[in-house]
Amino acid sequence: MKQHSRLSKNTTSIFCQSILLLFLASCGSDKPIYSEFTFNGATMGTSYHVVLAGGPLDIQMRSIISSRVDSFLISYNHTLSTYDDQSEITRFNRNQTIDPIPASEELLHVVRTSLEFCERSGGAFDITVMPIVNFFGFGFEPGESRFPTVDEIDAWLQLTGCDRLALDDSTITKSDPRVSIDLSAIAKGDAADHVALFLTEMGFENIFAEIGGEIRTLGVNKFGKPWKIGIDRPTFGGAPGADLQHVIALSNMAVASSGDYRNYREVEGKRISHTIDPRTGSPIDHNLAAVSVITSNCLIADGLSTSTMVLGAEVGLKWLEDYPNAEGLLITREEDGSFKEYMTSGFKQYLAD
Ligand code: ADP
Ligand code: MG
Repeated sequence: MKQHSRLSKNTTSIFCQSILLLFLASCGSDKPIYSEFTFNGATMGTSYHVVLAGGPLDIQMRSIISSRVDSFLISYNHTLSTYDDQSEITRFNRNQTIDPIPASEELLHVVRTSLEFCERSGGAFDITVMPIVNFFGFGFEPGESRFPTVDEIDAWLQLTGCDRLALDDSTITKSDPRVSIDLSAIAKGDAADHVALFLTEMGFENIFAEIGGEIRTLGVNKFGKPWKIGIDRPTFGGAPGADLQHVIALSNMAVASSGDYRNYREVEGKRISHTIDPRTGSPIDHNLAAVSVITSNCLIADGLSTSTMVLGAEVGLKWLEDYPNAEGLLITREEDGSFKEYMTSGFKQYLAD
């Protein structure tokens, strides 16, 4: 077996939660016109943060809202989280069959959207990437402290690709019993959309719903203005919000980000990104450090940001430019350590700094 690279036993692992965006509460000298209710929690191996702006809410109402959102997220996890041992997706992954597997509407919806991304991006976005993600320690398994062999990569490539899954109205079929799927690149965005929708159904109009850095906004903040969001400069080890590249203002729009600087491992001096290029079976290795994508819903923004991260700066910028109703900010890390930014033509309208 040929080794791609030899690794020492002194492997260091650095893993941080990816929260690329920060909600900015203050709005200069503006006076609030609404009350604000904020609550936080943990979900999908990360945190969530919700802000509602509107009339004052009593303690009982606050507690009802936050516990309903929490319960909703628990049940969402129970469908789509690969970190939940009993979730529908975990059971799907364990189910080693090529017979059609009955799937919930939610799972079908997210998988269908993912397959559309897979086709459109030429396989850059691919949820069948799970075995590779696990090998590198970014999934539900601890991962290896070495690079894979050529044979291992070849074996993965047999189990990955847009054509490894087939869908109908109620089932998903694997082309090989060992195919398994990872929805981490898209589920947080989808969940943020669901939380926003859920709160709309409860009668709220001004909503900021963030899960692990993916954000869906509706209406306005307590100042009656679009929600302000900070985009971090992609500095390795930088604390969220400590150094901002830009501030954007959003109303009725979503933003999702992907980056190489929060969730990575270091193996024998080489940083390994949690974003995998499924076309090669290896972690991405280019100078795109971060991307943030704005579009009307967070499921799409999340899928677009991960796809762009795989495609790299040049192809990724074109991919976003050509994608209808989406705008993006791409930040590259240059050889001298400085950052360069690229925006799609319509991104500027959202800048608030
Ligand atoms: P984050 O989860 O850090 O916000 P992303 O939305 O970009 O960032 O999702 C990255 C996660 O998606 C990885 O940790 C991995 O589980 C999964 N993933 C990695 N590469 C791909 C890919 N090419 N296509 C689909 N999912 C991927
Ligand atoms: Mg994503």
